[in-house]
Parts: sequence; structure tokens; C-alpha cells
Amino acid sequence: MSSLSAKGTALITGASSGIGAVYADRLAERGCDLILVARNEQRLNVIADRLRGETGRQITVLPADLNTKGGLAKVEAVLRDNPGIAVLVNNAGVGSVASILQADVDKMEAMIDLNITALTRLTYAVAPAFVARGKGTIINISSVVGIAVESLNGVYSASKSYVLSFGHSLQKDLADKGVRVQTVLPGATATEFWDIAGYPPQKTSEVTMSAEDCVDAALAGLDAGELVTIPGLHEVELWARWETDRRDISPKFRNAKPAPRYRVGSRTTGVAGVSRTF
Ligand code: NAP
Repeated sequence: MSSLSAKGTALITGASSGIGAVYADRLAERGCDLILVARNEQRLNVIADRLRGETGRQITVLPADLNTKGGLAKVEAVLRDNPGIAVLVNNAGVGSVASILQADVDKMEAMIDLNITALTRLTYAVAPAFVARGKGTIINISSVVGIAVESLNGVYSASKSYVLSFGHSLQKDLADKGVRVQTVLPGATATEFWDIAGYPPQKTSEVTMSAEDCVDAALAGLDAGELVTIPGLHEVELWARWETDRRDISPKFRNAKPAPRYRVGSRTTGVAGVSRTF
């Protein structure tokens, strides 16, 4: 049985469309009550009304703009103070396909605020409460471009690399405290993301997954105990190798002296009697 099929409330950001709306659907089906967060209250209400009718769960709509301090603070307060919260799905995010020479830096900053700052602050708000209760699940939505970083806009890709790295660190910090952290790396998924990112044709590409398949695979990965789930990666051994290599290289960084290839020992600082070698 799934760890999410029992009880508790799931707070889902970006629940008004796409991947977040499918999480709402699936987590309500699994027996979770929901708190749905996004800016578009009307769309949230349509989803909430439907899910109340279909599942009988308690569904609360919490309209908030996570790009504003006030909106963020409102959601942080719920995560800190509502003892029923069992799951946080950090899903709200925006992307772009523009290169550095085309992209507007203010939009890039807003992307960082949503994809990184909001996700971080919401995680910080809920983590102590989960630790105090000895249980809780955090699902952070990253992207395959967090690894395949040259694919889209660089700030977007880097924001998703952050989510992956942050997840590794959270797993280390929280694993023995009963808190599960799953990082999900969707590939191209057929949602409004691509309209906002500036490349709508991606929605109908043959390599683009449905949001339903993406979320169902992500939840199957969660049920299987995966720390990182990549719905579109068939060759799971490639991920295992990447992770093994990353962990193997980590202790190798610990050296007081630079590597011999830099020949730092043969270089001078202008001290008398010693000459420069380049
Ligand atoms: P989407 O349909 O555009 O959904 C984005 C959600 O974020 C919407 O519910 C939107 O709701 C919400 N949102 C945007 N700005 C917000 C703000 N300032 N405050 C609060 N909520 C905000 O796109 P999606 O594909 O489902 O995206 C969900 C996540 O998946 C994102 O983190 C994205 O980076 C990631 N992802 C998507 C793909 C893909 O190909 N689609 C691939 C990899 C990863 P409102 O407009 O109502 O606020």
C-alpha cells in the first residue's frame, strides 16, 4: 500500500493546471485532503469542486502569488501551523526557452524567485513540523534539464539543478528523522508550461509525455522508495551510474594541495632568487 494512501493533507503548489492539477487528482484519489495553491482562484475552485464531488475529500483553495512576499508568507504559515499537513508538493514553476541574449533579466529574477526561493522557503516552513511529528513527505519538481542543462534557458535549467542538489542535501539532513524527500525530473510534458516558456509546439511533439503519465510514474517511483524519479528515463542504469560517479568523486575533492597538472609548486610569487616558470 502506498505511503500516501492513508490520511493527511497534501499541500500542492501550482495546482491550477498541468502537473500540479494531476497531483491534486491522484492524491485525492489516494485519500489525502488537499490544499491547492496557485494564483488563479477561479481555476482552483473548478478543480476543488470536481474533486470534492468525485472523492469526498476536504479540498481547500489557497490563492497565493508565490512571487510576492505576502503570498509566500501566507502559504508558509499554513505549512508551519496546520498539524494535518502530511505532504508538500513543491510544483509551481515557470520556464523559458530564451537564450541569455534574448531573455529579460527581470523575468529571469522572477523565475529564480518562484523556482528556487519559493520552493526553498516552503520546504524550510514545513521541515521542522515534519521532523517534530516524525513523518512527512516532500515532493520537489525538478526537470531533466537540471541535468541536460544546455537544452533550454540557462536560468531555468540552473534553477532545476538547484532543486536536484537541494533534494540530495535534504535527503541527507532528514532521512533519519522520518521525512521522505523525493525529487522528480519530468522531461517534456504536455502542459501550459510551453505556452509560457515560449515554445507551444513542444506540447504535441512525439517525445512529449502526458501530465497524467508523468505524475502516475512519479507516484509509482515514490511508492517504490525512489529518492529521484525520472519518468521518461528508460535506462535506469544510466542514472545509477551518474549517481555512483557523483558520490565517488565527492571524497576526491579533499586535498590541501592543488593537483599536479596545475604545477603550482613550480610557480613563483616574485621572491628574490626564484624565477617564474611562465
Ligand atoms: P503549468 O501547467 O504552466 O503549471 C504551472 C503552475 O504553477 C500553474 O498552476 C500556475 O498557476 C503555477 N504558478 C505559476 N506562477 C505562480 C506564482 N507566481 N505563484 C503561484 N503559482 C504559480 O506547467 P507544468 O508543466 O504543470 O509545471 C509544473 C512544474 O513542472 C514546474 O515546476 C515546471 O518547471 C516543471 N516541469 C515541467 C515540464 C514540462 O515540460 N511541462 C518539464 C519538466 C519540469 P497560476 O498561473 O494559477 O498561478
